[in-house]
Amino acid sequence: MEENSPSEYTRQLSTIRKKRMFLWFVFASYIPAIVLAFTVGNGQPTAIVVAIIWLIGAGAGGVMVSFSRCPRCKQLFHMRGISTSWGRRCRHCNLRL
Ligand SMILES: [Zn+2]
Repeated sequence: MEENSPSEYTRQLSTIRKKRMFLWFVFASYIPAIVLAFTVGNGQPTAIVVAIIWLIGAGAGGVMVSFSRCPRCKQLFHMRGISTSWGRRCRHCNLRL
């Protein structure tokens, strides 16, 4: 398969979407996870473990999203220079997710 074919674009854009969904899931899960840790778990030690796991997930998700490559221009999809934007368009060529 040719590297820049439309189906390859679609596949790579789908991968970026999945990474973004993972990151939003991690962000949205913080409060419920901490509340669950305090209510179901044994209080603060469980909440600390959940917070550490959450921080690792958020860091990994942020790195995965920030360093995604655009299938069209091969630049970083969400980064331009040192600034990051998690918008739905490539920061370099405006390719839409
Ligand atoms: Zn691009």
